[in-house]
Amino acid sequence: MEIAPGIHNVIAEKEMASGVTNTYLIVGRTGALWVDTGWDRPGEGQARIDYWKKLGSPPLRGIAVTHRHPPHWGNAPAIQKACGGPPIIATYQEMDAMNERMKVAKVDRPVRDGETLSLGNMTIEFVFAPGHTYGSLAVFIRESRALFTGDTIMGVGTSVVNPGEGEIVLFLQTMEKFLRYNPSVIYPGQGPVVKDPHAKIHELIHHRHEREEQILGQLKQGPKTAEQMVAALYTGLSERLTNLAKNQVKSHLIKLQNEEKVAANGETYRLK
Ligand SMILES: [Zn+2]
Repeated sequence: MEIAPGIHNVIAEKEMASGVTNTYLIVGRTGALWVDTGWDRPGEGQARIDYWKKLGSPPLRGIAVTHRHPPHWGNAPAIQKACGGPPIIATYQEMDAMNERMKVAKVDRPVRDGETLSLGNMTIEFVFAPGHTYGSLAVFIRESRALFTGDTIMGVGTSVVNPGEGEIVLFLQTMEKFLRYNPSVIYPGQGPVVKDPHAKIHELIHHRHEREEQILGQLKQGPKTAEQMVAALYTGLSERLTNLAKNQVKSHLIKLQNEEKVAANGETYRLK
């Protein structure tokens, strides 16, 4: 479906929602670019290939993959094979993690922060956006100031930062960077289009600061484990969400340890 002039969201499901991976096809006057490709589930790659063909098979300049998680690169190998072999694009920092997971294809064009690609009437800028993962990529259209954020910014809720894959401090730096780009609209990796990017970015920064204050507040009461803090800060979570919450708290604890505000003794954390 064309959601703005030259911007298509080609999803297998009927509407954008959390858990549905948005896969965008940007079509300019001289070429096209995919931004993410969806889960590799039966029929989904073919549906995206058919959609591109229905548009008259605009020459593909690349398949940009925002990061290492499977719903983003899942159909990249199939699209590459069926659509004239455009390069799979990711950041240098994400390349190894992606190649390890993708197996049947590899990143052909690693990009640096600020590199550009012309689609004729649209100048695509690749933006290094670490946080959700160490090598996350955002895609910016200079003329319209549209920003494609992958999972760094979702349409609903906050982005997940798992220890070992990304870092809160990088995420916060990326939010400041996004503000400097002054986007007019955000096309997220999941969920609906963000029409007020400024408010959304501030909300995400605020949420992280608030969570950090809550964790410091917990530790002011005495040493605690991450589990104990999750139990105090979140209520009524399923097992899956409890694990997710524990990872978020741990990511904050890593930041606080690096800032020498918190010390760890085994699984127990205390204020320094
Ligand atoms: Zn992700």
